[in-house]
Amino acid sequence: MKWEENVRKVIPYVPGEQPKKADIVKLNTNECPYPPSPMIQKAMEAFPYESLRRYPDPQATRLVTALADNYGLEPENVFVGVGSDDVLAMAFLTFFNSGKKILFPDITYSFYDVWADLFRIPYKCKPLDEEFRIRKEDYFEENGGVIFPNPNAPTGVEESVEMIEEIIRKNQDVVVIIDEAYIDFGGKSVLPLIHKYENLLVVRTFSKSRALAGVRIGYAFGSQKLIKYLNDAKFSFNSYTMNSATIEMGCACLQDKTYFQETVEKIIATRERVKQELSELGFVFPDSKANFIFAKHKTAKAKNIFEAAKQEGIYVRYFNKPRIDDYLRISIGTDEEMDRLLAFLKRYLG
Ligand SMILES: *Cc1c(COP(=O)(O)O)cnc(C)c1O
Repeated sequence: MKWEENVRKVIPYVPGEQPKKADIVKLNTNECPYPPSPMIQKAMEAFPYESLRRYPDPQATRLVTALADNYGLEPENVFVGVGSDDVLAMAFLTFFNSGKKILFPDITYSFYDVWADLFRIPYKCKPLDEEFRIRKEDYFEENGGVIFPNPNAPTGVEESVEMIEEIIRKNQDVVVIIDEAYIDFGGKSVLPLIHKYENLLVVRTFSKSRALAGVRIGYAFGSQKLIKYLNDAKFSFNSYTMNSATIEMGCACLQDKTYFQETVEKIIATRERVKQELSELGFVFPDSKANFIFAKHKTAKAKNIFEAAKQEGIYVRYFNKPRIDDYLRISIGTDEEMDRLLAFLKRYLG
């Protein structure tokens, strides 16, 4: 059909499975295994139902201000969106318009190439080294922008602030985006650098460390200029992206600092224990600073483990892609969930 020639065709991103079955161990999408803060439930109970007839605040001022206060910034340094996927897509659209290739690692969040294709942004993938580390020199060539997660996904590998700063310093003619979806699990943030580099955007999410994947809140920190450009694009696209209940939930979540800290600490403790046990079972993996472990077994095939685990109702993530098809990405669940996984692995391997 003629009209089809002019369709913007894309190969969409494929998220991890969300099985409907009960009593499964779901370790495949890096969600938080613990419930969100009880303060969110309280806020929802008090939420004025009647207010739903009104449009939400298009600036989400309460949430923007709460984020600014929480991280010691001005509201002008904060942008919010419907999950960090929304924030990242808006950032690609706003900042990557030079026509030159943007750079990101070959093994990374698999949405980056999808957005680049959707927006017709040329890109080049830079191979991580044998230990899944970024080679900083790869990012010193001329480019249209740089993006990578820190810690990286799906590897869990954290790069140092010093190394990332060097990449930013050498790329002051383009926007550099650091996707800190997993930074709360023990990583060191580049956030302070937004005061030094006008072109640095730090993107984060409530989906992993704050247990609100279902609510969809993402945010970004950057210079006032950067944030203004993002808002101009956003308000030229859809003013009312974030609904009023979401704004309330986000604010309530930020208030409960103790719960946030305790939850993150529990996940880190479980992660460190599971690292130990996986090693004893013959798995090898780069050291993870995220809420997942990217592991390969010395003899057993990842694909076979993945399928056998699924038969038992245990879901992990397997990527059938070059360089990583020997690996499983295992999200950190509760201690009980990890014990079920480990018991299965012992049986399967033993
Ligand atoms: C999960 C994830 C996101 C997206 O999270 P949202 O749920 O859209 O906030 C972005 N980047 C990376 C690296 C992720 O792993």
